[in-house]
Amino acid sequence: MSRHPPLALAAARVSLWRVLGRRGAPAGAPRDELSARTFVHRVIRPDGQIRTVECHARVELDEAGEPVRMTGTCQDVTAFRLAEERFRSLLETAPDAMVIVDEAGRIVLVNSQTERLFGYARVELIGEHVELLVPQRFASAHPDHRTSFAEDPHARPMGGDLDLYARRRDGTEFPVEISLSPLETEEGTLISSAIRDVTERKLARDALTYQARHDPLTGLPNRGLFLDRLEHGIARAKRSHSTLAVLFLDIDDFKLVNDTLGHEAGDRLLVEMTPRLQAALRPGDTVARFGGDEFVVLCEDLTSEPDATRIAERIAFACSRPVTLGPHQHFVTISAGVVVVDNGSSTATDLLRDADAAMYRAKAMGKGRVELFDTSMRERLIERIALESDLRLAIDRHEFRLHYQPVISLDGGQIIGMEALLRWEHPERGLLHPAQFMPVAESTGLIVPIGEWAIEEACRQAAGWRDARGPAGPHLTVSVNLSPRQVARSELASSVTRILSLTGLEASLLDLEITERVLHDDGEASAKVLHELKGLGVRLVLDDFGTGYSSLSYLKRFTIDALKIDRSFVNGLGRDAENGAIVNAVLGMARALDVGVTAEGVETRDQLARLRASGCAFAQGYLFSEPIPSDDVPELVEAALAGLLES
Ligand code: C2E
Ligand code: CA
Ligand code: CA
Repeated sequence: MSRHPPLALAAARVSLWRVLGRRGAPAGAPRDELSARTFVHRVIRPDGQIRTVECHARVELDEAGEPVRMTGTCQDVTAFRLAEERFRSLLETAPDAMVIVDEAGRIVLVNSQTERLFGYARVELIGEHVELLVPQRFASAHPDHRTSFAEDPHARPMGGDLDLYARRRDGTEFPVEISLSPLETEEGTLISSAIRDVTERKLARDALTYQARHDPLTGLPNRGLFLDRLEHGIARAKRSHSTLAVLFLDIDDFKLVNDTLGHEAGDRLLVEMTPRLQAALRPGDTVARFGGDEFVVLCEDLTSEPDATRIAERIAFACSRPVTLGPHQHFVTISAGVVVVDNGSSTATDLLRDADAAMYRAKAMGKGRVELFDTSMRERLIERIALESDLRLAIDRHEFRLHYQPVISLDGGQIIGMEALLRWEHPERGLLHPAQFMPVAESTGLIVPIGEWAIEEACRQAAGWRDARGPAGPHLTVSVNLSPRQVARSELASSVTRILSLTGLEASLLDLEITERVLHDDGEASAKVLHELKGLGVRLVLDDFGTGYSSLSYLKRFTIDALKIDRSFVNGLGRDAENGAIVNAVLGMARALDVGVTAEGVETRDQLARLRASGCAFAQGYLFSEPIPSDDVPELVEAALAGLLES
């Protein structure tokens, strides 16, 4: 800071009173305060120039307390003042609170943003230590930072990770981000700090962090947060040799609620379950939602294995109270899988997988139950995963086959059609039946391309049989089974159209078999697809009749052409009267509705005789033929023509 040579005091034609009035102490201030002061004023030199002078002066008062004389020195600070003013106004344009401190951390200069942000008046800050604004305890990094800054003064940000806090005049604290930069002056290095209030940003970030770690519907921790806690739990269990359990919970038939009552009802059910789950847990346990209807629980510090099972049972019980969903009372059951570890050797992923496998087992065992994990479940799970990956490749590797089972007319004993039944020639496991892979094909959706392959293959075969028999006919129909997932797709009718024209098969020779599950699962969409299929001229057959809702309204609504009485009823024929009565009732009803009936699974001559006596027109079953490879079909048909199947 350069000082200018003192000007003659006499040159300063200033009104003492004006200075005091403008810059002096407020009225009523003790008189002696006036005795020694620094004044700054603008003076007009005799040559007309205006200069800024800084006077350090004493005011002498007379007995009455009136000022009489002022003695001291004056400096021309015009250049310095100009620089300072420019700097000051520069500070004012900064968006942040700017605080200039000296090397000792004393505040030298602040802008009005600082006053606004911290609630202090400028005069209250000048000369104070910067800790008044940014207390040391708020950030251990801060003092180090400042010290090292003095040694190596280059610009750098502080508190970018939002761990720095500042304090207002009223004592409230708020997060700040501070950027430091050196300020070289003739009196040494000052430090300029730009202080920015980041409350909003921090709130937004906290909200984001919360959202990223919680399920929006139930507010429960999500998979990510759960995995963190599980990993910590495993480490703790290892240290303290305690026992930890993971419970995998799944609401039974949740999909049915979603499909029949709508997603809103499904959501309500999930929300309703949340406090019940929480109430059934011990303090310190974590329940998370993994999406869908899957909830996962972490229980730490268990004393025994049965402990974990008991908690799962308690949860299941808490959830079993009926839930009101609109006009419906819904009864909830839960399938739970439990895995317990006491040596902490498993990873979080292992535990989740094992608990999932146990839950899967609980479902397979009839739902609404708790299963404790054992290693055989892991093997089954691994098998399932392997099967799934093999299944993905099976179409491209041409591993699927169709076997055909004849449908016999009980009138004359001739074969009137063939039902196509899927087989998978697995490279290692040999010929697999649908029961061995259909659940995986269904759950993965792979049934859609596989099913489409089956329709095409069956139509090609049927067209071949037709051509072999020549124009005289009559021709065999071919029946293909459809999965609900295929029917739920709006493209089904157009892909059947494509297949019929590709293979040249008449629509009248194709039967499509559906189960009541199709009609129930996604009523409206499926009804539309079935309507389109009927429009193509194919026949719709209701399979496994008697095992589902067996509703007459379905037969009418979906204009079903024929139904197949489920094997279980045919099987019981002759053994107990009830089965006979059911078969008779179905036949009577079908006649009234003009719907054809095929009896499935006919194995004995006695069953055949009873079906005939009841007026059943068609039958399938081992008595006539097991499903056979397509190559064997011509021979079988010839044998039938020769009357070998005639009983
Ligand atoms: P489904 O449509 O009810 O087929 C009849 C099942 O009963 C066949 O089992 C058949 O081999 C068996 N069966 C036939 N006669 C008798 C008998 O006299 N006694 C006994 N005990 N069983 C008999 P498969 O071939 O294992 O097929 C099982 C199920 O897999 C089928 O039941 C059908 O729902 C499904 N499926 C088969 N092929 C396909 C397909 O291409 N697509 C779809 N979506 N499902 C298929
Ligand atoms: Ca069938
Ligand atoms: Ca069937």
